[in-house]
Amino acid sequence: MSIDVRAVADLGPDDRAAFFERDAGIEAVTDDVGEIVDRVREEGDVAVREYSEEFDGVSVGNLEITDDCERALEEIDDELREAIETAIANVRAFHEAQLPEDWRREFDDGRELGRRFRPIDRVGVYVPGGSAAYPSSAIMGIVPAVVAGVGHVAVVTPPADELNPATLAAIDLAGADAVYSVGGAQAIAGLAYGTETITRVQKIVGPGNKWVTAAKAVVRGDVEIDFLAGPSEIVVVADETADPDLVAADVIAQAEHDPNAPVVAITDDEATAEAIAEAVENQAGAREREDVIRAALENDASAVLHARSMSEAILFTEAYAPEHLTIVADDDESILDRIDSAGSVFLGPNTPVAAGDYASGTNHVLPTNGGARVTGGLAVETFLRSTTVQRLSGDGLDAIGETITTLAEAEGLEAHAESVRRRLVDD
Ligand code: NAD
Repeated sequence: MSIDVRAVADLGPDDRAAFFERDAGIEAVTDDVGEIVDRVREEGDVAVREYSEEFDGVSVGNLEITDDCERALEEIDDELREAIETAIANVRAFHEAQLPEDWRREFDDGRELGRRFRPIDRVGVYVPGGSAAYPSSAIMGIVPAVVAGVGHVAVVTPPADELNPATLAAIDLAGADAVYSVGGAQAIAGLAYGTETITRVQKIVGPGNKWVTAAKAVVRGDVEIDFLAGPSEIVVVADETADPDLVAADVIAQAEHDPNAPVVAITDDEATAEAIAEAVENQAGAREREDVIRAALENDASAVLHARSMSEAILFTEAYAPEHLTIVADDDESILDRIDSAGSVFLGPNTPVAAGDYASGTNHVLPTNGGARVTGGLAVETFLRSTTVQRLSGDGLDAIGETITTLAEAEGLEAHAESVRRRLVDD
């Protein structure tokens, strides 16, 4: 059997740590990545080109490939173009629905307060492309930025002797402004500090491998980032009504992403647990990426778990805070009500995670390693900044004047108090 079947009740502290404190291998490469970032910061394009030779085995001609993306549209067939366009339309519609409106409100006593939202000027999107091509990630990173109204969307994607035309076409159709042929930590450093060719950006978003993710952690502070996204994860919560074959198919689809992808199915029904594990075993051997899948299934943080009750399954899931959560159970909505920490939720038997990965419209760039305890995935807000606005009437200031002066004096900030008093006197 390639995936363990275990009882939640039997998990010891080390097992729990493996599930709840998943290690994405980022710390192990942080020193190496720090060196790459420093060199790109100091030497610009020269260092970028050297690292591309070293890590991608490619001698890059033009670093900027914006025009190649437009040309790639001619290389893809109509079916693929239509699929990319449909996915873009659905992702755009979902993200347009998120656009917040500016607002002002009259509060009591002459205080008019509000918020307004403006796009960030320059954003960088990392589109992974090392061991596989990810046109879908291009769509997920670029479309929300365009919807938010970002002025300049720069995209980086790893170089290759033959760049993947589907990825390039998706980058173009999604609406990128500039595209550079560079991947890994050197791409993140280029976006963070700028080079002769690459425009410096104010915020970097997008998923990638451990070098990309470690680089985002290193440059954070000098530039904003979305969040640290490691290998993909799934928890499927199932009851006895779930079809074990479909649960297994979703688990295996997630395992296909990365040998380090942690995948969990948890159920309150022991027979269902056994049936899911058997289905996983039966299906894994038939998949093209069987090696990657088997490595992921054998991960310390991967298992089919049998809980004594749905409440135990829910508590486990909440503690896990998965990137993807699938619930296939009779009372899926009431189970969902009891789980706060999950990046993206898929309800019911007809909603595979792959729908959200590609085309239903939700974003697939999501927090991993428990990040869902504190943040959600890429969204329109990722690309917006908010400003608060206020206007007080004379009466408005009068009403809170004493509150302000009392607190200002308690903080020893007498000039603050005076700035209020003068107005009260003048009124
Ligand atoms: P990638 O683009 O993230 O990384 C490729 C780059 O890694 C190369 O350009 C190279 O410069 C660098 N690199 C490779 N070996 C190196 C080394 N020894 N030292 C320094 N740098 C090195 O592509 P990938 O490797 O295919 O990984 C993609 C990752 O993105 C996967 O983990 C996948 O699961 C993840 N992903 C996540 C999502 C999501 O939304 N969460 C979506 C798509 C992909």
